[in-house]
Amino acid sequence: MRLRFAPSPTGALHVGGARTALFNWLLARASGGAFVLRIEDTDRDRSRPEHVDAIVNGLAWLGLDWDEGPGFQAAGAERHRQDALALLEAGRAYRDFTPQAEFARARAEAVSAGRGSVARLPRTLAGRVSAEEGDRRAEAGEPFAIRFKVPQGVTTWEDLVHGAARFDNAEVEDFVILRSDGSPTYNLAVASDDAEAAITHVVRGDDHLSNTPKQIMLYQAWGRRVPSFGHLPLILAPGGRRLSKRHGAQSVEAFRAEGVLPDAMVNFLALLGWSPGTGEELFRSDELVSRFSLDRVIKKGAVFDAEKLRWLNGRHMARAKPEQLAVALRAWTATHGRSAPAAESPVAPVPAPATAGIALPEASFQRMVAALAPRSRTLAEMAQAARPYMEPLEQWDPKAVRKTWRRDPTWTAALLADLAALLAGAPWHEEPLEEALRGLARERDVGAGKVFQPLRVALTGTSASPGIVDVLMILGRERSLRRLDAAESWIRSALI
Ligand code: GLU
Repeated sequence: MRLRFAPSPTGALHVGGARTALFNWLLARASGGAFVLRIEDTDRDRSRPEHVDAIVNGLAWLGLDWDEGPGFQAAGAERHRQDALALLEAGRAYRDFTPQAEFARARAEAVSAGRGSVARLPRTLAGRVSAEEGDRRAEAGEPFAIRFKVPQGVTTWEDLVHGAARFDNAEVEDFVILRSDGSPTYNLAVASDDAEAAITHVVRGDDHLSNTPKQIMLYQAWGRRVPSFGHLPLILAPGGRRLSKRHGAQSVEAFRAEGVLPDAMVNFLALLGWSPGTGEELFRSDELVSRFSLDRVIKKGAVFDAEKLRWLNGRHMARAKPEQLAVALRAWTATHGRSAPAAESPVAPVPAPATAGIALPEASFQRMVAALAPRSRTLAEMAQAARPYMEPLEQWDPKAVRKTWRRDPTWTAALLADLAALLAGAPWHEEPLEEALRGLARERDVGAGKVFQPLRVALTGTSASPGIVDVLMILGRERSLRRLDAAESWIRSALI
């Protein structure tokens, strides 16, 4: 199988495009075929090099590597022209001399009269000029576009997703293939490029369904092999409306900025229209390669739920290896700073705070990452939760103080002093630490929580954290003792 992803570089890589890329990539990898990347930059006004970069980087980040390309559609302009002229020569296309202004006028009239579809206008308007008349007027220097002469009959194909598809050719207008400025239209360029690249399977969004009969007609008129076509369901917002900007950021980059792992993003994209039919939801890319098939792609809209992506990401984080997560968290923090971007604007990177971070030894860093993974849905949340370990403790959360320390400050201060003495001498390993803390609770005849919680507030400034022994192991003896000391002094000073 030879498949391709053919984005127009007119914007970021959005979830819809990324899903198309993924499905093509999965089919290419599963079949041992080729995945071709073609940048459709024929719209010179809207195409931008920075969008090409964003698309290429986004695909690379997702791990969707391509075997050929990136090729640029504009580079094929001369071939496109030749392919259009060949159809003219063969009598399968004709010159249309209708001035643009006339079309615009007729179109406006039809719209205001609420008459018919705009798409059908040109045939009634243009008429088909004979080859002789066309030659004569072209020679006289009259500008013209080239229109494909849509044959009578029906165009059918076996859609890889929808099954038997059928278009009555009478519904298809004589579409322009070459504009009067000599530039090719989308349908001509795509069919010419796909034929040139020997693409065997064209898999793309449902929004291209109405282009497919036109492209099939072109292949047939050229006498070229028609590829197979498959159309992926539209992506809908929760509630069933078509997904739009209103529903928040949908670029792959925005989710990356929010701290989504590429594995989770790929997993999520795969479930946008596909499911294995077994209820399983958690997949790595390599698992998807072997499980994915187009016959399990739904025909109707796929619902996009960013909350589900965050949930999936949490699952991927929980099952990632600490050393991999450590690398991912460092990379994310280097670009986005330590705090989470505000939920309302997930794209805006938060600048790194000016305070110097604490350099944790690698083993402690990995322990921290492993401890925070089950409690975080994104790297941004993890970076936020990591602050007590990565930054100097500037204050104790007032609510936590009220709940845990203030009930009995004298008792708490004494407890923290005892804890400091105990931890100063305890072997710094999980089991003895745990045993020492529980021993102290028994000695004082209180539940373990009565010891853990005041200690947790002293060490992290908050009342919610990973297990207390994890916290001690992450911070290390020296910093733990310093924080205990600071907390105890503060409580005592507040007592006076
Ligand atoms: N360039 C087209 C787009 O971005 C895709 C063309 C195709 O897949 O046939 O919508």
